[in-house]
Amino acid sequence: EVRVRFAPSPTGFLHLGGLRTALYNYIFAKKYGGAFILRLEDTDQSRLVPGAAESIEDMLEWSGIPPDESPRRGGPVGPYLQSQRLDLYSQTAQELLKSGHAYYCFCSSQRLELLKKEALRSGQTPRYDNRCRHLRADQVQEKVAQGVPHVIRFRLEEGVEPFQDLIFGWNRHEVAQVEGDPVVIKADGFPTYHLANIVDDHHMRISHVLRGSEWLISTSKHLLMYSALGWKPPTFGHLPLLLNKDGSKLSKRQGDIFIQSFQRDGVLPETLLDITTNCGSGFATSRMGRKIDELISEFNPSKITTHSALLDLEKLPEFSRIHLQQRIDDDEQCLSLIKDLQAQIRQTFAAEIHDEDVLHEDYIRRVLCLRKGHISSLKELVSPEYSYLWVRPSFSSQQVTSLTTEAQHIASLVLKLIEERREQLNLNLDQLSKDLKTLSKQTKATKYREVMKLLRLALSGLQQGPSVAEMMVSLGPAEVSHRFQKLLL
Ligand code: GLU
Repeated sequence: EVRVRFAPSPTGFLHLGGLRTALYNYIFAKKYGGAFILRLEDTDQSRLVPGAAESIEDMLEWSGIPPDESPRRGGPVGPYLQSQRLDLYSQTAQELLKSGHAYYCFCSSQRLELLKKEALRSGQTPRYDNRCRHLRADQVQEKVAQGVPHVIRFRLEEGVEPFQDLIFGWNRHEVAQVEGDPVVIKADGFPTYHLANIVDDHHMRISHVLRGSEWLISTSKHLLMYSALGWKPPTFGHLPLLLNKDGSKLSKRQGDIFIQSFQRDGVLPETLLDITTNCGSGFATSRMGRKIDELISEFNPSKITTHSALLDLEKLPEFSRIHLQQRIDDDEQCLSLIKDLQAQIRQTFAAEIHDEDVLHEDYIRRVLCLRKGHISSLKELVSPEYSYLWVRPSFSSQQVTSLTTEAQHIASLVLKLIEERREQLNLNLDQLSKDLKTLSKQTKATKYREVMKLLRLALSGLQQGPSVAEMMVSLGPAEVSHRFQKLLL
């Protein structure tokens, strides 16, 4: 049975890097009919950020990759919050003590500090010298009885076995040669990441650990613990890092990378899933516009490479346009976009709305269908650039007085085109564009262009924007003739 987990520490909010790790776990689980588990690793109580735990789960749900088991949802192997599993960790530490794989360490923080200073002075990497390994049982008992503060350390053995990482292939880190024995239970009784992580992966029956490649060098240490406990380890796969386009660490420097801020900006969740997998690997072909079902069906773990994934956030609007278009093309999703937009229009324009008809479902749907592929978020449609769709534009009379008799004639011909179609609810964009072209051929080109400029002004109050024909189609015949009248007075 495939069981994978995403195990963030609630020491911060979910960002793109975390989302990507969660996403690979999710698609792996779904591809193989398994379970995707969210476990919060909150053992470092001093670094907890209020609200982060709740928010991480919210953001996974919002992104469309909800966990099957989690702190909120519960599940058969809970609780899913490490701070609620402390007994399990101390029991395991006791087992390790009993079998001689762990020992009490009473070294004071001053001594550790001193060791560190000495190492640094002689140009070495600081490491614990494993002194307390050699305490006799009676010495230990005495100190414990005296209440001397202590931690529990895991005894690192030499001669680690190589393991095969799903992505990085054969690996082995002779940890005992580079590190001192690691703490597994801290002085406050809380476990460290290394212990809690393997205890939970074991008890939660995790089959595959897919996590960031920064953990690759810790894996040999974890495997030593599995073997000390006589447990079968999961299969490991370390995912290459997500970096900025220039290879620098993904950070706030390149703009906000927190999922909540994308949500606030109106970015669609499927856009984020697509852009974070598009730059990475795991897929035979590279294409934009994959939705979660396609990510699952096209995913191939053997295609994940060890290269870092470079994220190009400048492409976000392009990804957004594609995904927004896909939603508009889906009847059900389009309806909820319409509802969303109605609320935004009310909020933005409220009293200025000239006619309640602009809030009508059919009108909004027509606008969306005309603008899809051009806009990257609904928010754009309530920006000044598109306000003409919801409120009548204002422009000075000076701007239109330049109409010569000849131009006036052209304008009235255009008006006639629209008057003829007054009865039609929806104008046909192709037909209208064709008719306008024919008209331009029959008249003087320069005059024609001048008229188009003025028509655009009368329709939208703007010098630029969608084509005049498109503006006419979206506004509809009645509104267009109303706005044109002003020109012809
Ligand atoms: N809590 C660790 C982190 O925040 C989890 C690492 C792992 O997946 O093993 O990255």
